[in-house]
Amino acid sequence: MTDFLLVTDLDQTLIGDDRALITLNEILEENRQQKEIKLVYSTGRSLELYGQLNQEKHLLSPDALITSVGTEIYFHPIKDNFDLQWANNVSENWDQEAVFSVASHFADLVLQPLSEQTPFKVSYYLSEKIAQEVIPRLKADLAREKLETQVIYSASYALDILPKKGGKGSALQYLRKQWKIAANKTVVCGDSGNDITLFKGEERGIIVGNAKSELLQWYDQHKTPFRYLAKQHCARGILEGLNYFGFITT
Ligand SMILES: [Mg+2]
Repeated sequence: MTDFLLVTDLDQTLIGDDRALITLNEILEENRQQKEIKLVYSTGRSLELYGQLNQEKHLLSPDALITSVGTEIYFHPIKDNFDLQWANNVSENWDQEAVFSVASHFADLVLQPLSEQTPFKVSYYLSEKIAQEVIPRLKADLAREKLETQVIYSASYALDILPKKGGKGSALQYLRKQWKIAANKTVVCGDSGNDITLFKGEERGIIVGNAKSELLQWYDQHKTPFRYLAKQHCARGILEGLNYFGFITT
C-alpha cells in the first residue's frame, strides 16, 4: 500500500534551489527505503522541455509525469508510456484549430515556441499589464464560438488555453483514482497560477514561500487546515510542508 503520493510542480517549486533539491532528493530516497512513496511531476513544460530539464538537474525518476499543464500523462518509464486513455479523455470536444483562430485576433497574445504547442494545448505570452483586460475578452470569444476550454494565466507571463477536461488538477485526480490513493495521503506542491487546480480538492497542499501573486491571492481566499503556505522557497518549502503534515520526519 502506498504511504503517500507526492505530486509536485517543477519550475520554481521543486526546481530553483539546487542545494535544496539535492537535500530533498536524499531525504525522499531515505524515506523510500521504509515507505512506499509515489512521486509525480506535474509541469507546464512539454515532454521535450522536461527532457532538457532532466538532463540539466538531478531529478529522481517519477512514477508518472504530467506535462503540458495536465493535458498529457506518461507513466514510468516515461519514454514509452504515453497514456492514451487520458489523451482520449482530454481531447473530447477539443478543436485546436478553432482555438488558434479565435486567439489570433488578439494582437497582444504572442505565440510561444512550437515545442510548447502540444496537441491539447495552445500557449502564448501575455504581459501582466494588460492581462486583466485581455483575458475576459478572450474567454468571451471562446465561449461565443462554443469552444469548451479553460484559460490559465501563470507567473505573470504565460497564457495557456486547454481543453475543459485537461489541467493539472484533473490529471492528478485521474492518477489518484487509478492508484486508489486517498486525498489525505496525497500531497500537492506548487508556486503559480497553473498549479491552482492541484489545490482544489482535499489533498494536502504545499504552497512554496516564493509562490507567485496569483496563487497567493487564491490561497488567501481559500484557506483550510489542509493547505500550507511554507516560509521557505522551492524544494526547501516542500520539505517544510512534508514535515508539517507529518509525511516525513527529518
Ligand atoms: Mg512553477
